[in-house]
Amino acid sequence: MFGKCGDPQNAMKVFSTMARRDVSVWTAAIGAMAMEGNGRRALELFNDMLKQGVKPDEVVFVAVLTACSHSVHAISPHIVHYGCIVDLLGRAGLLEEVVDLIKCMPMEPNDVIGGTLLAACRTHKNIEMAAYAAEQISKLIIQRTGMHVLLSNIYASAGKWGVDVAKVRLQLKEKGIQKVPRSSSIEVNGVIHVFTSCGTGDTDTRTEQSHIALMLQEINSRLRDAGHIPDLDNVLLDVDEKEKEYLLSRHSEKLAIAFGLIGIGKGVRIRVVKNLRMCSDCHSFATLVSRIYEMEIIVRDNNRFHFFSQGLCSCSDYW
Ligand SMILES: [Zn+2]
Ligand SMILES: [Zn+2]
Repeated sequence: MFGKCGDPQNAMKVFSTMARRDVSVWTAAIGAMAMEGNGRRALELFNDMLKQGVKPDEVVFVAVLTACSHSVHAISPHIVHYGCIVDLLGRAGLLEEVVDLIKCMPMEPNDVIGGTLLAACRTHKNIEMAAYAAEQISKLIIQRTGMHVLLSNIYASAGKWGVDVAKVRLQLKEKGIQKVPRSSSIEVNGVIHVFTSCGTGDTDTRTEQSHIALMLQEINSRLRDAGHIPDLDNVLLDVDEKEKEYLLSRHSEKLAIAFGLIGIGKGVRIRVVKNLRMCSDCHSFATLVSRIYEMEIIVRDNNRFHFFSQGLCSCSDYW
């Protein structure tokens, strides 16, 4: 193909004028980027291809992996390169292709790849695929409770109350995995404060607790005015709507953010560390707070960094 002629620049010129591009044309263009060692551009092309609805095959995977691995002077593709492709395929909703790719990886998938696939299943509401993914992953990393929590969140979000969630819970019990209590910590004026969802953690003075409760009330009413509706699917307990709303409002990162708003002056970032994955309601909470209160908020959960600023998050609401 045109990429093989040894002149990637010319090859790309030809590519840009082609009206009809099937998977082999895209593969050739990505191959041309591989020759240049331009992994970033190869990934961009791959993403463009997915966006245009062209189905990927193994040959194009190899081309992307080659381009990526050349760009970091590695001989064989690293797991991070597979991670990039899994991420792009997942965003495009090509879940079966993700599973095929994971199956033929020369190395064992790690928790990042598994988590990316699970998150994609959640976004595209594919319960069966999520169950498959979780089964594969749990074989590798049963010690990571966060994964199981993510899976049971998928079931719950899909409204499959009852059997499936019960099954997951049973599995957790059989494997002897206790649900880790969710907690968030925040540093204010050089002191680290820890919050858990069941209580206000180590801020044990009554005055502090009532300040946080008042702040949360204020935030929640401003969020409601801005059109925020609590996402009750995030509460896994089988209780009535009012109780769900209350429990949701007590999530540890919300308590920490409220505490940060009280104790941290304008222009200083609020930094919260969460031990498990952030739920979607806390995510939209932080997004809106960053806009309404004009504060920058950074939340590090067990999966990634979220940098909230002016009503947007660095993860583009995909995590
Ligand atoms: Zn939450
Ligand atoms: Zn985010």
